Amino acid sequence: MPSRRKFLVQTFIGGLAAGLGCRYAYANTMLSGQIIHNTLAPSLPIVISTWSHGIAANEMAMKVLKNKGKSLDAVEQGVRVSEADPLVESVGYGGFPDASGEVTLDACIMAPDGNAGSVSCLKHIMHPVSVARRVMEKTPHVMLTGEGAYKFALDQGFEPTNLLTPKMEKAFQKWKNSGLRYAPNANWENHDTIGLLAIDEQGDIAGACTTSGMAFKHPGRVGDSPIIGAGLFVDNEVGAATATGEGEAVMKTLGSFLIVELMRQGYSPQQACEQAVHRIAIKLKPHPNFQIGYIAMNKAGETGAYAYAPGFQYAHYQGDKNELYNSGSMQNH
Ligand code: ASP
Repeated sequence: MPSRRKFLVQTFIGGLAAGLGCRYAYANTMLSGQIIHNTLAPSLPIVISTWSHGIAANEMAMKVLKNKGKSLDAVEQGVRVSEADPLVESVGYGGFPDASGEVTLDACIMAPDGNAGSVSCLKHIMHPVSVARRVMEKTPHVMLTGEGAYKFALDQGFEPTNLLTPKMEKAFQKWKNSGLRYAPNANWENHDTIGLLAIDEQGDIAGACTTSGMAFKHPGRVGDSPIIGAGLFVDNEVGAATATGEGEAVMKTLGSFLIVELMRQGYSPQQACEQAVHRIAIKLKPHPNFQIGYIAMNKAGETGAYAYAPGFQYAHYQGDKNELYNSGSMQNH
């Protein structure tokens, strides 16, 4: 197990290097077939997010950061890109509906000061992450759900929108006519929850996570994505983590919180993501189609990613490189 001392030394060196403006001073190391962003002397800012639609989200987040914006604004603006994109079928507008044909959205956001906001089962609003931010900033609460969250959004000036696109209406009718029942299927490449983590030039970390959840889920079902500590957790002294995949498993193991706490103990982001996936495999005995993916970032700007099954991708943006990587996984096929 890596020692806490080693972690603190790495953090110090990373912070020092960033402070001295050592740009492009990191190395990508190939380890057991996957790229680890090994950033002993990272150049800030850095953005990391889940799936291939993370590339466009990273682009927007980095634009904010390169204009001297803060990580909190970057993560919100970044994931709004996926929320508004009808081609991203598991987030926001154009997302898959639940078993009654309604699109219901879950999202949360967490700031460097430890503040957090969240909405769940929110209908008719294009940008749940921005409603989550308003919950964080305008109420004494962390989470609003369903009808209450919707009314709050309207009070805050958000416009009601029909989130069900003709394509998704068709998909729903097809699913309904097939007589199939809901079954978790969380590894549809490029079509899953976006979780995005950013560290700004000051070294402050924020995160956001937003989703339409599992396709054809039970009406009223809430996944991991809006649950602070499950779908997302940020501790600005240590780092941040976020999840995608079958949310029930993440909720049962409080995966993102677990990863941050492991990093606090000295694990690298990569090691911590691997441990969190192993925890699920040991405790929950996953079914054959099971998938879960984590990404993480620490205060030194090091990042990690790991999944249960192959197929999980993440987007990493540092310096002038915004690239998509295949995550390592516990299962090899
Ligand atoms: N984690 C999301 C949920 O369980 C689904 C996903 O990432 O695709 O709602």
